[in-house]
Amino acid sequence: MSSEPWDGIDVVDAHAHANRALVPRLLDTMTAENVSAAFLVAGGVVSPMELSHTIVTEGPGRDVDADNTDLLDAIRDEPSLAAFCFVNPHRAVGEADLRLIDECAGVKFAPGVHGIGHLDPRVQSYVDAAAERNLPVYSHCIGNGALSVEQYAQLARRNPEVTFILGHAGRGNFDLDAAQEIRAAENVLFETSGGFDFVIKNAVETLGAERVVFGSEFPIQHPRVELTKLCLAVAEADLQAVLGGNIRRATGTYEKGGNT
Ligand SMILES: [Zn+2]
Repeated sequence: MSSEPWDGIDVVDAHAHANRALVPRLLDTMTAENVSAAFLVAGGVVSPMELSHTIVTEGPGRDVDADNTDLLDAIRDEPSLAAFCFVNPHRAVGEADLRLIDECAGVKFAPGVHGIGHLDPRVQSYVDAAAERNLPVYSHCIGNGALSVEQYAQLARRNPEVTFILGHAGRGNFDLDAAQEIRAAENVLFETSGGFDFVIKNAVETLGAERVVFGSEFPIQHPRVELTKLCLAVAEADLQAVLGGNIRRATGTYEKGGNT
């Protein structure tokens, strides 16, 4: 195997997608790229084309559930894999949702899929569930309205005891506003998938390396692409924190199979 700049670092993927069929390919890819663990979100809720369209047009989103149960079953015996519960804020959290969240390492919102604003009380009900379990919250923000980074930062300021993760470098490839918008909300981490390396450098300068986390967005993006980018953008002294240390700290209370 060729040597890579991230060899010898405990690399943890803070954000990838999978379903039962994709888990073997994900594990093979992690082995090939020296990724030691990954946090997964159930995939395939809407088609890639529909998701792309709702992200570009800011909605409207729809009422659809991810198959968290199937993903949890598929990774139950894989110690390197854990799930963020992909919740559906078209309803407030219910007993069935709480049972799923109890098995997960975090809570994931997808405004581009569901179209529910970050300050909606139904969203807060899931944040409350995360807070009670000391779990982080992840969201992929879009646009400038209710689904935006700015509103997500407001949600984070309302819930200072919860760690929030801003997915996909804010609004995607070239968003320098995002780091500014979350700067004062110190409980928000910045996940790097999809952002240009210039944006990642800026995030480290604006937020500090301890608030920046590697995510791959597998299978939409190959982990090697994101790891190569980060090793070009981040100082060597900060790589351990950005590539794995920060997300391990944010999910530190989660123990697979041991939190019920
Ligand atoms: Zn994603």
